[in-house]
Amino acid sequence: MLEIRPNFEWCDKDLPPDAVEARICTYECAFCATCVDTVLHNVCPNCGGGFAPRPIRPKTPRRNRRILCGPERHAVRTTMRNRKGAPR
Ligand SMILES: [Zn+2]
Ligand SMILES: [Zn+2]
Repeated sequence: MLEIRPNFEWCDKDLPPDAVEARICTYECAFCATCVDTVLHNVCPNCGGGFAPRPIRPKTPRRNRRILCGPERHAVRTTMRNRKGAPR
């Protein structure tokens, strides 16, 4: 799951989960749009990657921990185990 960081790493502004001006790189470094545009020029100072707008995280999460819960969960587990235990 995407880590929602509580502050912008460049200017240390507060960064609420629903901030529309949040930008993240692939390593989830978080910056505000102003810093990205005017200071960083779309290059992450931590990893050198580019930025994308961070999706809004709703205040009440719709799925908490479970991702697979029906029979599909069992199917995925079984497939993985079989693959691991196979001779090649
Ligand atoms: Zn900023
Ligand atoms: Zn980065």
